[in-house]
Amino acid sequence: MAAIINGKEIAAKVKAEVAAEVAKLKEMGHNPGLAVVLVGDNPASRVYVNNKKKDCEEVGFASYEYALPAETTEAELLELIAKLNADAGVNGILVQLPLPKHICEQTILHAISSAKDVDAFHPENVGRIMIGDYSFLPCTPAGVIEMLDSIGCDINGKHCVVIGRSNIVGKPMGMLLLHRNGTVTICHSRTADLAEQTRQADILVAAVGKADFVTADMVKPGAVVIDVGMNRNAQGKLCGDVAYDEVEKVASAITPVPGGVGPMTRAILMRNTLTAAKEQLK
Ligand code: NAP
Repeated sequence: MAAIINGKEIAAKVKAEVAAEVAKLKEMGHNPGLAVVLVGDNPASRVYVNNKKKDCEEVGFASYEYALPAETTEAELLELIAKLNADAGVNGILVQLPLPKHICEQTILHAISSAKDVDAFHPENVGRIMIGDYSFLPCTPAGVIEMLDSIGCDINGKHCVVIGRSNIVGKPMGMLLLHRNGTVTICHSRTADLAEQTRQADILVAAVGKADFVTADMVKPGAVVIDVGMNRNAQGKLCGDVAYDEVEKVASAITPVPGGVGPMTRAILMRNTLTAAKEQLK
């Protein structure tokens, strides 16, 4: 039976560290804050935004929510971002994705000041991640690294297989593992014989978006399995990409869903906001 990597517990530690630093900034007369912009009424996005507000309250950040109607134009959204970029009371800006189809996500993400880009989606920050000189770590991949560290999993020299090559998870995940001296394979929907690749993984990260996608026969005995997926199963229950019940019998350690990578992503967002605030106060 695999050890369970408890994301909630590790996230609570990260948030407690952030809260202690935020308290110090407040003692010095600062009131750091995060602005979250939501366009439209996607129910999942609403849940994410509410969670981010809760996290801000927990660590002591001011949170500013901008809930805009679905008909908001790209020009109006750009105008709001310009205002937030110029607002010294706002240290981090996050635009909740996905945006309505008539708004170009790239245009919006590029408009956010790279110094306030706490999601690390701006090309400048993406480039920094590539060369290993980063101000903001991409939230989900950085959360995964924190989880591996928390169980004493040494990435150095390990074969790491990432399933998924998205800009927000798969690619930066591969890069962070590479910076920690992992030997990295990134798989995707065109990978020939995926199971052949995944069976070689000492560390397997699944970021596919398909329930029960990773089965026990795809996992090397003793591997560490990280499940980034957030899906709904046939019963409407939240689940990951990994067939948990069978894979936990093969893996040495595994993340659950819920209670795994999700809380870590949120905790790293708080840490990035703190980093942004400290940099801007220098
Ligand atoms: P995405 O943009 O849809 O990317 C999915 C990736 O999976 C793509 O690279 C795709 O390959 C690959 N893929 C799809 N079918 C495959 C197959 N049959 N074999 C191999 N690879 C396949 O999704 P994402 O944004 O990266 O998110 C992935 C999952 O993580 C989702 O469930 C999402 O909800 C979850 N997520 C969770 C968190 C968290 O905090 N826990 C954060 C972000 C995302 P191609 O590129 O070839 O299409």
